[in-house]
Amino acid sequence: MSVYAAAEFPAYRPRRLRQSPVLRRLVRETVLDPGQLVLPLFVRGGRKVRRPIGSMPGVFQLSLDELLREAAQAFEAGVPALLLFGIPDKKDERASGAYAPKGIVQQAVRVLKREFPQMLIITDVCLCEYMSHGHCGIVQQRKAGGRILNDPTLKLLARTAASHVEAGADMVAPSDMMDGRVRAIREQLDDLGFTETPIMSYAAKFASSFYGPFREAAESTPKFGDRRSYQMDAANANEALREVALDLREGADIVMVKPALAYLDIIYRVKKEFGYPTAAYAVSGEYSLVKAAGAQGWIDERAVTLEMLLALRRAGADILITYAATDVARWLREQR
Ligand SMILES: [Zn+2]
Repeated sequence: MSVYAAAEFPAYRPRRLRQSPVLRRLVRETVLDPGQLVLPLFVRGGRKVRRPIGSMPGVFQLSLDELLREAAQAFEAGVPALLLFGIPDKKDERASGAYAPKGIVQQAVRVLKREFPQMLIITDVCLCEYMSHGHCGIVQQRKAGGRILNDPTLKLLARTAASHVEAGADMVAPSDMMDGRVRAIREQLDDLGFTETPIMSYAAKFASSFYGPFREAAESTPKFGDRRSYQMDAANANEALREVALDLREGADIVMVKPALAYLDIIYRVKKEFGYPTAAYAVSGEYSLVKAAGAQGWIDERAVTLEMLLALRRAGADILITYAATDVARWLREQR
């Protein structure tokens, strides 16, 4: 298919089709729809807790009762899916809160599926929020510093995913970036009979400075070092394709690129190369930048947010994970 004009000016005048909103809408190549949105939520213990995250205006750590209120608003606005992160009361060296049958995410899944059976409940599968050291895997302490162990971590991740699905999660989303974790989770779920539960893997997750505000939200800042020994180097695109290929071979149903806006080339190449359902995670830093500039009156928060999400769609993303999902769903309705 050629996208180049067959005729030249004055026979071809691109402006002819830009004359009115109706014409522009008729020839629009990419659309945003609330059905593509996923809202990440942070859940913690207690009652009536709605703890604001300073660097992410409008985002809160929520106790179960408040979580239900937030989910209700999202659902009414037309957001079809939630992505859950848990903040446990206690952390340890084995991340036991991650796979406890009565862990915070497991409890959240149960109440959400009871109150909103039509919503798709996705759980983030990782250990960092539950580890006393804040890393995504088991740590071996050495004189030269800690090392994050890959293979022993897989068992804990698989166990975590299984406990989420046993609680009723519709989909699991491993975000740890350990090698081989999609296979470990797929095998564990299949062994338990959950052959129909899809895996959305954070396949190309980059070590990014755009995650700054999230660490406050999830209380998951590493106590030592950083995550560069397992998350990807921001400079690498070919490696991202290999990561995606691996996850697909291991059984991922949906692949994700994270962060989103600064990685449009990765989204584009992943979609073009593999053609699988592709998710883009517009991360905390992307959200906070827009919120901060919007609050100053320097940009139009609503217009910029919609344009950024449209760009993700244009690059090839099918699924948009964003903290602004509820607002976006409302704005899209108002536009109709
Ligand atoms: Zn993690």
